[in-house]
Amino acid sequence: MKNEVLEITTSPLTIALDYDCTYDADPTFWDLFINNAQMTGHKVVLLTYRDANFDKTPLLLELEKKIPVYYTGGVAKRWWSEHFGPGKIDIWIDDRPEAIINNSQYSPEALAEWRKGDRERHYPT
Ligand SMILES: [Mg+2]
Repeated sequence: MKNEVLEITTSPLTIALDYDCTYDADPTFWDLFINNAQMTGHKVVLLTYRDANFDKTPLLLELEKKIPVYYTGGVAKRWWSEHFGPGKIDIWIDDRPEAIINNSQYSPEALAEWRKGDRERHYPT
C-alpha cells in the first residue's frame, strides 16, 4: 500500500517541514508522516535556514530524493517561500516558529565559524 494514493477527503495541502531539530530529530517518524501525507494527496516540502552551497548533510541529500528541499540561507521562510520557493504554505512544522517570519539572527562570520565544525550539528538557529 506504500505510496498508493488513498481517497482524498480534503483539498490538497502543502506542508512545510523544518530540518534542524525537527526532521532530524526523528527521520523515521517524519518519513512515515511524509508517506501518509502523500498517500492522502498532500504535498510535503522541507524548508530550512541552511545554505544550499555549504550546509547539506547526507540526511538532507537522502531526503532530496523523496521531497522538494528548499534552502533559504537564513532568510525568513514564509517570505522566501512565497518569492523563490513553493509558494504559499498551508501548514508549517518547525521547532522554532520564529524562523518562519524572521531572518536568521546569525552573522555571516558566525555561520562561517559554525561551518568549520561538524555539519551534522544543528544549525545555530
Ligand atoms: Mg529547526
